[in-house]
Amino acid sequence: MTSDETPDQSSDQTAPPVSSVPVIRLDLDGDLTALFRAVCDVPSVSGDERALADAVEAALRPLAHLDVVRDGNAIVARTHLGRSRRVVIAGHIDTVPLTDPPNLPTRVVGEGAQAEVWGRGTVDMKGGVAIQLALAASLTSPNQDVTWVFYDLEEVASDLNGLGRLARNHPELLQGDFAILGEPTAAGIEGGCNGTLRVEVRVPGVTAHSARAWMGSNAIHSASVVLDRLAAYEPASIEVEGLVYREGMNAVGICGGIAGNVIPDECVVTVNYRFAPSRSLPDAEAHVRDLFSGFEVVVTDAAPGARPGLDDPIAADFAETVLSLTGGRPAPKYGWTDVARFAELGVPAVNFGPGDPLLAHKDDERCPVGHLALCHDALHAWLTR
Ligand SMILES: [Zn+2]
Repeated sequence: MTSDETPDQSSDQTAPPVSSVPVIRLDLDGDLTALFRAVCDVPSVSGDERALADAVEAALRPLAHLDVVRDGNAIVARTHLGRSRRVVIAGHIDTVPLTDPPNLPTRVVGEGAQAEVWGRGTVDMKGGVAIQLALAASLTSPNQDVTWVFYDLEEVASDLNGLGRLARNHPELLQGDFAILGEPTAAGIEGGCNGTLRVEVRVPGVTAHSARAWMGSNAIHSASVVLDRLAAYEPASIEVEGLVYREGMNAVGICGGIAGNVIPDECVVTVNYRFAPSRSLPDAEAHVRDLFSGFEVVVTDAAPGARPGLDDPIAADFAETVLSLTGGRPAPKYGWTDVARFAELGVPAVNFGPGDPLLAHKDDERCPVGHLALCHDALHAWLTR
């Protein structure tokens, strides 16, 4: 859906609202844990983010210091203070599907600083979203201009991604000197991400009746050459700007054979290569083609990595402020995240958000309230000092 189709709050009876469901009210000025739970308790599985997007828009529109734009179920709110630099702080509002029975509404287990909020989205990544909302409201005059981005469709195919759609429809909205994604990092800074390449390695054979196998050539047997090369492969650990990225080269699927009495004439091994951000996509592809020389290699999916960007002065400044409050050191991000999308736009980006990333998408997703406060206070400090 484009912004043109966004329901107009001031429309008259000639344009009936698409939904008669009242917009959920989010209290951005109250208790952060309560806001976090309220955001989690609006289910927003990918493709079904409308209610939460409506709530975010309704909460931000009235704020005089923000210029709010909606594109489908993505909301962008910007300050225009004429500061010399601008930071983009972004988070996706969708989640993976609920469990059965549903792991919502949220519940709190434990007390005080030890308390944890359980439920879908508590780790990935409504904690980051709640912090964005609270700071977007409270920071009327931050020390740099801020673009707050709330986007849809992150947990589905890359071509549907709401941040990608914003980059196509409104590239100017994502411009900035630095970007922070509130993806879960257990309140640490994670820079960059590995790239990913998926290929099919096609192993040929010659078909024959299995009663006369000597007339053919068995493609599945020949695939052992591919599997041997994978088993012998030693993935590299590559240091990029001080962070060490572990690579991976793995078979993730194998397919061959058409019937129980036919010698197969093809076996396809699907291989996923996760590569350090020091390699370009063409480098990564060349590396895979080299490893499987002698076989046909077909690329089926590819996304470049992103360098950590921590050598950028703003990123370094951010890291210094945050780490002075949280302790710890910057770490590499192994999975692919939307920091790579910002890297493609020429905007250095890091991940920084509450929640243990190892619990993302798990049925027992849960976030310590201590992480929420830590990330909120660190961002607040950096944007006001
Ligand atoms: Zn996420």
